[in-house]
Amino acid sequence: MARYTGALCRLCRRNGDKLMLKGSKCITKCTFEKRPKPPGPQLGRRRRISDRGMQLREKQKVRFSYGLMERQFRRFFAQAERQPGITGENLLVLLERRLDNVVYRLGFADSRAQARQIVRHGHIMVNDHKTDIPSYMVKEGDAISWRETSTQNEYFKQLASTIEGRTILPWLSLDKKKLVGQILSLPTPDDVDSKFNTASVVEWYSR
Ligand code: ZN
Repeated sequence: MARYTGALCRLCRRNGDKLMLKGSKCITKCTFEKRPKPPGPQLGRRRRISDRGMQLREKQKVRFSYGLMERQFRRFFAQAERQPGITGENLLVLLERRLDNVVYRLGFADSRAQARQIVRHGHIMVNDHKTDIPSYMVKEGDAISWRETSTQNEYFKQLASTIEGRTILPWLSLDKKKLVGQILSLPTPDDVDSKFNTASVVEWYSR
């Protein structure tokens, strides 16, 4: 599946907010701090951003945060709409269930982009089966582990020694010795990031 390969912090500048797409590097090296204006030619005066513009920015913020292209994102949105409940909350819950996100949430990677690569490269197993599809939707009870061969590499060894202090979200558990994670329950709306204004995302698509 395609993914965005451009400059990541250009997206921070476009959205007027640090999106943390590069993991901990974003704390120190985000170009948004040096150049907080949107990328591209500067308009002479500051423009007031329209409601429509706000909705778009909010939608893009969620989409970029999870590293999806528009077409995939729309599919998630359509699925969220079909489910009972609040569409915006459903959307975040669905996004959280992606395997690449779970690998990130377990602390196996510093960013979702890195998590996706770890999955893509076949390092991760779901219930003891190699699963290299970042969009795999985790289910309650799923065990997320590393492949035997992957536990030999430096990255894994480093991770095993640094993961001790990490706090894990309540819907996940992690065996910090073996680096095996488990989905205790599916995330609920209370478990997902509240920094996104999902009502704006819903408004953006409902026109
Ligand atoms: Zn940035």
